Amino acid sequence: MDIIAPVLHNVRGIGEKKSDALATLGIVTVQDLLFHFPFRYDDLSEKNLAELLDGEKTTLKGIVATEAVVSFYGKRNRLLFRMMVGDAVIAVTFFNQHYLKNRVQVGEEIAVYGKWDANKQTILGMKLLSSGGDEKEFSPIYHVNKSVKQNELVKFIKSAIDTGYLSVLPENLPLYLREKYRLIDRSSAVRAMHFPENEKEHTGAKRRLKFEEFFYFQMRIQALRFQEKVMSQGQSVMYDEKCVRNFIEHLPFELTNAQRRVTSEILNDMKSTSHMLRLLQGDVGSGKTVIAAIAMLAAATNNKQSALMVPTEILATQHLESLKSLLSEQKEVKIALLTGSTKAKERREILNELASGEIDIVVGTHALIQEGVDFHDLGLVITDEQHRFGVNQRKILREKGNNPDILFMTATPIPRTLAITAFGEMDVSIIDEMPAGRIPILTKWIKHEQLETVLQWLNTEIVKGHQIYVISPLIEESEVMDLKNATDLAEELQSFFADTARVALLHGRMKNEEKDDIMRRFKEREMDILVSTTVIEVGVNVPNATVMMIMDADRFGLAQLHQLRGRVGRGDLKSYCILVANPKSEDGKKRMKIMTETNNGFVLSEKDLELRGSGEVFGTKQSGLPNFLVADMVADFNILEVAREEASRVWQVENWWEKPQYKLLADDWANGRTQAFD
Ligand code: ADP
Ligand code: MG
Repeated sequence: MDIIAPVLHNVRGIGEKKSDALATLGIVTVQDLLFHFPFRYDDLSEKNLAELLDGEKTTLKGIVATEAVVSFYGKRNRLLFRMMVGDAVIAVTFFNQHYLKNRVQVGEEIAVYGKWDANKQTILGMKLLSSGGDEKEFSPIYHVNKSVKQNELVKFIKSAIDTGYLSVLPENLPLYLREKYRLIDRSSAVRAMHFPENEKEHTGAKRRLKFEEFFYFQMRIQALRFQEKVMSQGQSVMYDEKCVRNFIEHLPFELTNAQRRVTSEILNDMKSTSHMLRLLQGDVGSGKTVIAAIAMLAAATNNKQSALMVPTEILATQHLESLKSLLSEQKEVKIALLTGSTKAKERREILNELASGEIDIVVGTHALIQEGVDFHDLGLVITDEQHRFGVNQRKILREKGNNPDILFMTATPIPRTLAITAFGEMDVSIIDEMPAGRIPILTKWIKHEQLETVLQWLNTEIVKGHQIYVISPLIEESEVMDLKNATDLAEELQSFFADTARVALLHGRMKNEEKDDIMRRFKEREMDILVSTTVIEVGVNVPNATVMMIMDADRFGLAQLHQLRGRVGRGDLKSYCILVANPKSEDGKKRMKIMTETNNGFVLSEKDLELRGSGEVFGTKQSGLPNFLVADMVADFNILEVAREEASRVWQVENWWEKPQYKLLADDWANGRTQAFD
């Protein structure tokens, strides 16, 4: 018996067809099946009839008082009987479960789980429990789909457990950790996740599995840190301090204190022989580009090349422009742009100059990590919006130089404590201060009914020659609907602003060249209003745009709204963010209100965490963090910290994988389980 055997033919009742169906839930092996945990439980405990509230769910036990009567109407049916609960007689109704009739026998004891209707003194039955009392208090509820039903899944899981698969599920936490933190063993935990006897057992199971998830996550992060810090000797960039100081003094603005602090953190790293691996976080507009420029200039003064890698062409072009203007006085520093659309001839030239060392700074997209791009002496790699680049791509770029220093820049604000833990292999720098003199963006929340008035007002902005972004509502999981919405919206706006404004449309289904072309035309003021699904790239800079209007804004998370808002207020013009929303949920209302109250990304990200939990804020896509099955980075932060300490202790032991106390750990590690996070 093997825990990673396919469910097909190995679990009773699963044949070809069911196996295919289970695969749609991501269940292929017995282990997948056993780790498909319920997302909630029905509390089947019995409550006191006299204390029940209307609408409350409960189990009621009693004696069947009248025979069950079934009535059919159309395709539906209803089963009705009365039962004695203590001294009271209540009615029991089941809809569309007429087949239960045989199990309802007058005079026998019965237990019904359902929803209490206080007015009608009726329980609306959801489950008929066997009265024998072997039912658990908690009944698991799983994520299922059309092809796999709740009760089937329960049956399969029970069957896998009955067959004895839990006994071949390997324990993967060292005993000393289980003893130290009083963690139950792995098999018991998995069993109790599905079929807990009571609340306490369930809590114990969750605690054990959360620790396990975090511990392995941290083992991997500490492994990266180990590789980065201990095994790899970095370069020491002996830059020209005078030149760098001079450059900073002659910038058109004074660096903020925060910028000064992170600049010296970065320069110190570069100077030292240990390898720089640093995450630079700063809200949109906090001035990260100039920091990048300083670091790259420093490298250039030591004849080291730098590469700045960004996710899109439009961002690459933009960065090139800002760098050229910032470094315009540095005649000896040569800057180039390399993207997918660089023409062949020019590309060849650039490649030659990169290889010969003539080019000091290259800005580009993924094209930078293609084969054939070789550097003379790459000393520094910077990525903007690091979450878009996978671990592997980072690795390739690193290998193009002699282990160059690495700086990741990101505008996704993550609270410091969390960042340090989640990106534990990196050092973290934070720019937590905005340049002085910014005119704060005014954020207004309006209801759909007020839209007309707002459109009239938009006209006054257009007349001033300012530009406007309009974000069309996001429809979950339907690009087709997104497109239709965006198209309709663009047409409506064009007819509203018939003579005054030119409306352009940008959406996710366009080819990259098309997108870039539209963005370029918007930037060059050929268009006044840009209607878009959320594809407007983080970092896009059109200083003449003064209004960001977001339709159905309550469908977006705070982090996303903040990123969108950051597209305006980038020049010296007074800017506005208009949230159009009639939120139905309390959460939605709160989000709209918070947006109008603060412009600070870190405050927002903390509020966001409070409101939504980390799972949604840090989707794997967003930040490169793993999705945990049981654990939650925010709610279980203290467990995460303990797991980090323990993992880092393991890595401090030389060749820990050879030591007996870590055998369970080493076995699991060797199985590559933890690699799953990549
Ligand atoms: P980020 O990349 O962090 O979103 P940028 O680097 O694009 O921000 O900076 C936004 C704008 O602020 C740029 O126009 C930049 O020149 C300007 N800027 C940067 N630092 C300062 C500063 N200390 N004082 C005034 N303006 C600044
Ligand atoms: Mg930037």
